[in-house]
Amino acid sequence: MNAPNKSGWKPQMEVADATGEAVTNTGNRALMLEEPLLFEIGHAETTGVDLPEIDPAAPSRLGGLKREEPIGLVGLTEPETVRHYTRLSRQNYGIDLGFFPLGSCTMKHNPRLNEKMARLPGFADVHPLQPVSTVQGALEVMNELAHWLLDLTGMNAVAMSPKAGAHGELCGILSIRAALEARGDAREVVLVPESAHGTNPATAAFANYRVENIPATPQGRVDLEALKARLGPDVAAVMITNPNTCGLFEPDLREISDAVHEAGGFVYCDGANFNAIVGRVRPGDLGVDAMHINLHKTFSTPHGGGGPGSGPVVLSEALAPFMPLPYTARTKDGVVHLIEEEQADDFAREHFGGEMSSFGRMTAFHGQMGMFTRALTYMLSHGADGLKQVAEDAVLNANYILRSLEDLLHAPYADSGPCMHEALFGDKDFGNGLSTLDLAKGMIDEGFHPMTVYFPLVVHGAMLVEPTETESKASIDQFITAFRSLAERAIAGDESLKQAPYFAPRRRLDETAAARKPKLKWEAPEA
Ligand SMILES: *Cc1c(COP(=O)(O)O)cnc(C)c1O
Repeated sequence: MNAPNKSGWKPQMEVADATGEAVTNTGNRALMLEEPLLFEIGHAETTGVDLPEIDPAAPSRLGGLKREEPIGLVGLTEPETVRHYTRLSRQNYGIDLGFFPLGSCTMKHNPRLNEKMARLPGFADVHPLQPVSTVQGALEVMNELAHWLLDLTGMNAVAMSPKAGAHGELCGILSIRAALEARGDAREVVLVPESAHGTNPATAAFANYRVENIPATPQGRVDLEALKARLGPDVAAVMITNPNTCGLFEPDLREISDAVHEAGGFVYCDGANFNAIVGRVRPGDLGVDAMHINLHKTFSTPHGGGGPGSGPVVLSEALAPFMPLPYTARTKDGVVHLIEEEQADDFAREHFGGEMSSFGRMTAFHGQMGMFTRALTYMLSHGADGLKQVAEDAVLNANYILRSLEDLLHAPYADSGPCMHEALFGDKDFGNGLSTLDLAKGMIDEGFHPMTVYFPLVVHGAMLVEPTETESKASIDQFITAFRSLAERAIAGDESLKQAPYFAPRRRLDETAAARKPKLKWEAPEA
């Protein structure tokens, strides 16, 4: 623990109260040290480096810009600095620490083999402006990955450059807009089912479309009849998340696609949840026109906390000529090229049987090389059969959780058949005004990152749990035990849950104030 210093900093950690024994049953305690800011523990006269004394007689080379006053920044010794950042890193919960059941986020283990490959200097140190002849290995990785994505999805073309799922959605919708404009068809509406991910309506609105909702059936799936009834000459596209955010497969997607195409629109599929169907279902067979794949979810690669993502978009034959530049392609000479504007038309005539009319670029360069390398490593180390097992195990694990808790917790779609990669519960039966938030905070005391809460919106107090394929039965069993005990307490109306978490470095935060009035600047305490 750090000694309080001149600035008046004192540890503020709240010590667990007498209920400590009663509120945990995994034996987990948050072994966290309270960590002050550098400003609070440093001293102006301390430094981690030894600099030579300056000869006051030596001529200044700073052209009159030499600082006259001390700058007032605090310094730390090297060990103090190392400890500060190491302690901070311990306050960060990550997939390498424990189970991270955040629904829809697919927080799976990132094999170290991926990291080893991504760190090879030939991949890690390439520059996007290097001559093509010097980066054939990197382009080969992109091209090979593109082939895997096309094979796994049964689609015709892939835009590799989008940098996240939502960025991929924008890419897909802009391709659809370009295709409609090319045929002089100015459609204004994008239909989004209630069970879609929140980024879908946001993307459509961002691309200047009017968004209209399509209701869900009581079974948690798209209402096919309502959707068909709304189709018409003003509908540019339908955006469908499959598997949807209720963790259910949309079995009517083929019929939906046919109806949308019949009405002259396009089908965008949110494929962020491809984890549940990879190797088992090819979206191309379901009539999808554009779909993003979150490499950082389905094919591992670290993400979260604003970390890197990668959201390649696969496109149907109808949309391929409109995809963004550049893209990789192997030409007749056997060399992999980055197809830029100059080559695009020739290449398109040869491969797409028509002119290329790309809508433009999504990024300055070619996309996330590090993510490409990690994702391809995940694919190659699993092989095609292994990837099929990825989906099967992810679905098996989620169903194990669903069936282990449905007797106790409200599971709104438990009767709709097996779930896909995530299990959905609601807080309908909680007593004494307790809600999903209280259970989620209790989860922190049990040493688990909470599941996704209050999403999807169609379920009251939704709790969306995604175990992924990389969790062992033992870790899932431990989670289920903790979840059951918390659910029993919530249903019984146990007031103590309203104060959870007891053992975290911070207790309940004012989440509204944190979002609306964030304090972004440190101010020295009054002397
Ligand atoms: C994660 C996710 C997204 C958004 O992906 P980002 O990479 O976070 O932009 C979109 N749709 C679904 C269903 C998702 O799970």
